[in-house]
Formats: sequence, structure tokens, C-alpha cells
Amino acid sequence: MKTIVIGGGIIGASVAYHLAVRGAEVTVLTDGRPGGVATAASFAWINAAPGNTRPYFELRMKGILDWLRLQHELGDRLAINWNGSLAWTTDHAAMADAFAAHASWGYPTRMISSAEAARQEPSLSSYPDQAAHSPLEGSLSPSETARALLDAAAERGAQVSADAVRSIVSRKGRITGVQAKTGEIGADTVVLAAGVACERLAAGVDVTLPMANRLGFLAQSAPLPPTLNGLVLAPQAHMRQNADGRIIVGADFAGGPAPDDEEAAAEALLASVRGLLANGDDIRVDRHTLGLRPVPADGLPVIGPVTQAPGLYVTVMHSGVTLAALVGRLAAEEILNARPVDLLAPYRPERFGHPDMA
Ligand SMILES: Cc1cc2nc3c(=O)[nH]c(=O)nc-3n(C[C@H](O)[C@H](O)[C@H](O)COP(=O)(O)OP(=O)(O)OC[C@H]3O[C@@H](n4cnc5c(N)ncnc54)[C@H](O)[C@@H]3O)c2cc1C
Repeated sequence: MKTIVIGGGIIGASVAYHLAVRGAEVTVLTDGRPGGVATAASFAWINAAPGNTRPYFELRMKGILDWLRLQHELGDRLAINWNGSLAWTTDHAAMADAFAAHASWGYPTRMISSAEAARQEPSLSSYPDQAAHSPLEGSLSPSETARALLDAAAERGAQVSADAVRSIVSRKGRITGVQAKTGEIGADTVVLAAGVACERLAAGVDVTLPMANRLGFLAQSAPLPPTLNGLVLAPQAHMRQNADGRIIVGADFAGGPAPDDEEAAAEALLASVRGLLANGDDIRVDRHTLGLRPVPADGLPVIGPVTQAPGLYVTVMHSGVTLAALVGRLAAEEILNARPVDLLAPYRPERFGHPDMA
């Protein structure tokens, strides 16, 4: 089967890899450097933390498992920090309730004492009386991981081209390929994995994909010697140390408006890091990123074939880092077997309706 994947972020890279592993002919088209746009600006926390519905929690749990499966396949090429997370808020009681409820869903998480927290993260300047420890959570270097997946796909025959897609091509009610900058390319299936650009590209073939994208601002330190073990999710800031030694820090996981002064905002984030670390005085801002999170209008992933545009398969979501390994595998299975995966039923594109039906 001939497939085109639009997008070289972590989602497109994973779909391309899994399609190539199963013997499909794959062309990945990406309008920028492989490694993604949202992906390049991501905090890249792999988790199934509290705050989601039970079915979406289950999907995220399987997302974690599939990174482990993919590591078995690709070994050292995938560097994932599996050292878990330490989280606390200013409202201990509410937090303990939320994490107890989550533990009752089977999530490996529990409240630990300040002495245990110090063993988990020895470099902090002080410890809360109680914190939630979630040992199954992890993080990765997002663009490097996307590129590693694209390289692995290329070794299995996929072609990766820096060629922007102008539009998806539809003939006689069926998707037949794409109009790229370099010309028209035909395919049996086009996978739309273009992050925030999915909405516009889908609209070109009358497919409704409403998005409520959110900004997210992160600051990074210069590379440091090993300092953090895993993720630290404190009221002042969320932080983790990347494989290259940089501390990545963000304030509000839910996003918010763009800071008026990005330099000052980055400085404020690093000031929080300095306060949280025992020996953090010399940590300085090296760079910052303002990313746009691809968030479908109802907050849930959009994954699946589009019934009113046969030949089109959509994969767009927030928490794409948590879900990429799983979504890539299941999308390849659905595309190549033409058999729906039941787990994906709540995430179908049809839930947003069709313009003609409005
Ligand atoms: C600040 C921030 C923090 C986040 N934190 C987390 C987190 O902790 N955990 C988590 O799981 N998720 C997190 N996310 C979300 C996660 O990063 C995204 O869900 C994920 O990166 C989406 O990957 P993607 O491949 O779909 O999109 P992208 O990385 O945006 O890739 C889209 C690709 O499509 C290509 N493209 C676009 N238009 C075209 C075109 N016309 N032709 C050809 N190519 C095109 C782009 O070049 C790019 O390669 C965060 C995101 C942000 C911004």
C-alpha cells in the first residue's frame, strides 16, 4: 500500500515508522526540518496523571506501555528517562484525594513523605511534607525522538522529504494524494499528522476538524551536570532535565496567553528553578520557546479514517508525546488491516460532524 504521511513531528514520525515496519510504501512530507513544530517546543512528559476521564486515562496508560514496547524494538536509539515524577501543590488535602482516586484506577502513584521525596530527588533545596510519587512516568527529548523514528522508518524504506503540502487531493469523492510544492504525489492513504496545520489542510477537502490550540511557554537552562532524577512538578514550576543536561521549565501546564516580555518570563521561570534547587544559584537562561499545542476542540485526540473522505486518516492531539508510540502502532494497524481498533472508538474524526450536515 502506498501511503503519504504529512508531518515529521513525533506523531507523523511514529506513524511512518510503524507503517514502514509493516511493509507499507511510505513517503513523509514535512514543510520544515524533521522533528516537528509543537514537538520541538514540548515539555515532553509521558504520563497518565490525574485530570482525565477513565477511558482517556486508559489510553494514556497504554501510551506509556507502548513507549516501553518501542524501546524493546529500537533499543538505545530511544533515550527515555523513566525515573518517574514527584508532584506537590499548595493544597495537600485536595491533592492527596485526587491521587488516592487515581491510585484506585490502578495508577502506580502514592503520597510519600519528605524523607522519601529527598531520596527520589536529592538535589532540591526543601521538600513538602507530602508529595505524590508516580514512578511510571517519564520524559524524552522530543525532536530527537521524532528524528530517531524517522531514521528508523527510512532504514525500512520510507522516504522523508522536506516538501510542503499545499493541499490534499480529492477525486470522485476519494482522497488520491497531495499537491506538494514539488508537484502532485499519489497515494492509497494520506495520513494527516500536521499538528496545528491539520485544521486548514482538512478544511481543504471539506473535513471539519475544529481546534482550540493553546500556547505554551518554556525556558531552558544551559546544559548542567546531572541534577534532576526525574520530573519535578512543584507549585512554582514544572521542571525536568533533558538528556543534553538542560533543565526545561514551564509554569502553567494548561497554557495561557503569550508573555508580554518573553525574556523576563524566561528569567522568572529560571528564578523558580534556582529557588527549588539546593545548588541552583548559578543556573542561567539559555533559550526559551513559545509553542502552540495542537488541541482538538473537545480536548481529546482525533485519530482515525475520515468516512466522508475515504483515503484520509487523521492523527492530531495534545499529549502527542505521551501517545505517539501507541497512536503510531494503532494507526498503522487500522490503515493496513482496514479493521477498526476498538480502543480508538471515542476519538474518531466524525464526532465533529460534516459541514454539509450542519
Ligand atoms: C509547551 C508545550 C508543552 C507540551 N507538553 C507536553 C507534555 O508534557 N506531554 C505530552 O504528551 N505532550 C505535550 N505537548 C503536546 C505535544 O508536544 C504535541 O501533542 C505533539 O508534539 C504533537 O506532535 P505532532 O507531530 O502532531 O505535531 P508537530 O510537532 O507540530 O508536527 C507537525 C508536523 O507537520 C508539518 N507540517 C505542517 N504543515 C505542513 C504542510 N503543509 N506540509 C508538510 N508538512 C507540514 C510540520 O513541519 C511538522 O513536521 C506539549 C506541547 C507544547 C507546545
